[in-house]
Amino acid sequence: MNLLEQAYDPETFRRQGHAVVDMLADYLADSFRPAPALPVIPWRRPEAQLQRWQEDLTTPSDADPLLFLQSVLEESIHLHQPRFMGHQVCPPAPLSALAGLLGGLLNNGMAVYEMGGPATAMERIVVETVARHLGFGPEADGVLTSGGTLANLTALLSARSRFADVWQDGHRHSMALMVSEEAHYCVDRAARIMGWGEQGIIKVPVDVQYRMRAEYLEPLYAEAQSKGIAIIAVVGSACSTSTGSFDDLAAIGAFCARHSLWFHVDGAHGAAPIFSTKYKHLLAGIETADSVALDFHKMLMTPALTTALVFRAGRDSYRTFSQHAQYLFSEQEPEWYNIAKRSFECTKLMMSVKVYILLRTYGVELFAEYVDRVIDNGKVFAALLQERPRWETAIAPQCNIVCFRYLPEGADEAETDAVNRRIRETLLEDGRFYIVQTTLKGRLWLRVTLVNPFTTAREMTELLECCEGWQHLGDVSL
Ligand SMILES: *Cc1c(COP(=O)(O)O)cnc(C)c1O
Repeated sequence: MNLLEQAYDPETFRRQGHAVVDMLADYLADSFRPAPALPVIPWRRPEAQLQRWQEDLTTPSDADPLLFLQSVLEESIHLHQPRFMGHQVCPPAPLSALAGLLGGLLNNGMAVYEMGGPATAMERIVVETVARHLGFGPEADGVLTSGGTLANLTALLSARSRFADVWQDGHRHSMALMVSEEAHYCVDRAARIMGWGEQGIIKVPVDVQYRMRAEYLEPLYAEAQSKGIAIIAVVGSACSTSTGSFDDLAAIGAFCARHSLWFHVDGAHGAAPIFSTKYKHLLAGIETADSVALDFHKMLMTPALTTALVFRAGRDSYRTFSQHAQYLFSEQEPEWYNIAKRSFECTKLMMSVKVYILLRTYGVELFAEYVDRVIDNGKVFAALLQERPRWETAIAPQCNIVCFRYLPEGADEAETDAVNRRIRETLLEDGRFYIVQTTLKGRLWLRVTLVNPFTTAREMTELLECCEGWQHLGDVSL
C-alpha cells in the first residue's frame, strides 16, 4: 500500500478505532475510581511541554499512533475526574463525544444544505428546543456556532445592523453598548472589533453580589446621549464568569424596551438552567431578550465547541451578514437551511449532532439533572467552607461557580493574597486537584467551577484538607 492507501485503510481504522475506544473507556473507568491512577492535571511548564513534543516528533520512541494517543490522554488535563473543579468546560457525555468522532470523520461542511442535510435539520431542531425553553415564541430562530465569544459578536453585529447599515455605509455614528463591569472580556472585545473603541463599551457598576446595578442604566444612557454616543444594546450577564452572578434580566429587559435598545443575554455559561425547573428562576426575564448565547460545552455536556445563538425574532438572524456570496446561495433569503448565511463560519463542525443525540436518547431531563446537580454542588461547597473556620466565600454562590479563600491567622490582605496564590500554585504542581483563581476588587480569590456532576462533598472536603495541610507546612513565602 502507498501512503495514501495506508492513511485511508478501513481495516487499520477498524483496529485502531476499537483500541482507542477501549483506551477511552478505561480512562473513564479510572476517572471514577476513588483514587484514580492518573492525576487530574499532569503539570508541566510550557517550555518543557514544547520540548517534550518536539522530541517526540523528531525522535519517536515508538511509531505506534496508539501509544502516542495514550500519551496524549495521560498527559492532558482530565475533566472527567471529580477532582477537576477548574474552568467552565464540562466533561462531555461519552455518547456526545462519539457523535463528535462521527462528525470528524464525515466532515460535512454545513455551510450549505447539501453539505450536511441531516445535521442542518438537527440544528434547527436544537435551536427550536432552546428557543422554547427560553420562553420565546414560534418566530424565534437562530444558529449553532463555535463558542460564546463568536455568538456574542454575531448577536451584537445583528444589533448594530438594526441601527445602521455599516456593511454598506461604514461608520457614521459613534456607537456603544452597556454591560456590567463583571462581564466576560469577549463583550469588550466585540465592541472593539466592531470599531467602537474604548468609548464603545460603557461599563455599568455592580452591587455587592457582582450583579449589574440596573439603576445606573438610565443615568449612563443619558450621559452617553449628551456626548453624542448612540447606545444600541445592553448585554446582560447570565451569569458573570468570575463569580457566577446573574444580572437582573427583567430589569434590563424593561430598560431596553423603554429605549428601543437591543437586549442581548450572554448566557454562555449560565443559560443552561432554562432546562431546570428548580433553577430557571435565575433567568427570569430572559424571554424579553432579543438574542441569547448559550454554550452546550459548558453546562450541557457536549464537547467544545457547541453554542446556540437564538433570536427572539428569527428574522434578526438573517440580518447579521447582509453580504452576498452568490456562489453559495441560489436564491434570496430566507433559507433556513443554508446556514452560512446566518453564521460567522463558512465551514463549521457538525455540532448539532452532539446535542441532538443526547436529546433523542435521554431527553431534556438529562440536562435538568445535570444542571440541578452541579448548581446544588455550589451550595454544598459553600456550606463546607462555612463549617471550616479559616475559609470564606466572596458571595453566597448562585450557581456552580464559587470564589473562596483561606484566611491565615493574623494575616493582612497582602499576606492573605500571597498564601492563596501559593495554595493554587502548589495544587497545580501537585496535580490531584484542579482549581483556578480570580481577582475581585484587587484581591486574589480561589475559584472553582463545579462542572463535573460526579464531584461530591468528599472531593470538596479533600480539597480543603489538602490546602490546609500545605498552609501548615510553614513554607509559604509571604
Ligand atoms: C465562557 C464564557 C464566554 C466565552 O465563551 P466561549 O465558548 O469560551 O467562547 C462568554 N461569556 C461568558 C459569560 C462565559 O462564561
